Amino acid sequence: MHEVLAKGILSSKNGMNIYRGCTHGCIYCDSRSNCYEMNHKFEDIEVKSNAVELLEKALRQKRCKCMIGTGSMSDPYMHIEEKLRNMRKCLEVIEKYGFGFTVITKSSRILRDLDILKKINQKAKCVVQMTLTTYDEELCKILEPNVSSTRERAETLKILHDNGIPTIVWLCPILPFINDSEENLRGILGYCIEAEVKGIINFDMGLTLRDGNREYFYSKLDKHFPKLKEKYIRTYGNSYQIPSPNDKQLTKIFYDVCFQNGIMSDTEECFKYLNTFEDKYAAEQISLL
Ligand code: SF4
Repeated sequence: MHEVLAKGILSSKNGMNIYRGCTHGCIYCDSRSNCYEMNHKFEDIEVKSNAVELLEKALRQKRCKCMIGTGSMSDPYMHIEEKLRNMRKCLEVIEKYGFGFTVITKSSRILRDLDILKKINQKAKCVVQMTLTTYDEELCKILEPNVSSTRERAETLKILHDNGIPTIVWLCPILPFINDSEENLRGILGYCIEAEVKGIINFDMGLTLRDGNREYFYSKLDKHFPKLKEKYIRTYGNSYQIPSPNDKQLTKIFYDVCFQNGIMSDTEECFKYLNTFEDKYAAEQISLL
């Protein structure tokens, strides 16, 4: 890891990344793509050492409360966070200033901060987003080697729900010829039903590949799935969109199961929900008047 002093922390859409790079090792990771111009090794994590101070300054200056999001380019609950606790310190700031919070993670390590997440959710709104791709635990270890297993993530979702924290699952990517089966999909959806997730985000059943992440993905195919790289090249060439041949069938199952179980499945609706700030404390005060 190496430390840098960042100039700012919040994007125009109130997203933040306190770390750059990731040690979770997912073989399909889009954040490895060259277009993000990371000027260091992906696993050599860049730590924004002034992230907490920058966040406090930014929130103090904001006129309106909003949702603060994190986790789209780097999982903030990777191993390094155990020692640094920077995510926890940021959560304390978010709670102090009464903002909402949402995070995307694949780690059960988030439960360490359950106490603060609950406080944020009591005052405003806290939503935890978790990615689930692979029902088979052995396959999951190959595709996402350094994260909590799918079963552990599903248990985490249940604990969050039992503590009043709403959850959204990202059902992606689905890798053609690897985990694009009905059995895999139904297994994951079963976990989502058990954990009473609020919504599931799914674009198409497939993945995206571009320069940078394509090379890494192919090197892992060569290691774990002999001859599959050649099949990808034959089928998709250099395409960015890599749809599963089972896309239609799986998508129908996805929408049917979500509808039957009252799970939000419209992507736009899920994003609208994630972006909408709720001030529960103010609402409570008004109702008392
Ligand atoms: S957790 Fe996310 S950022 Fe980290 S390696 Fe996996 S896909 Fe990439």
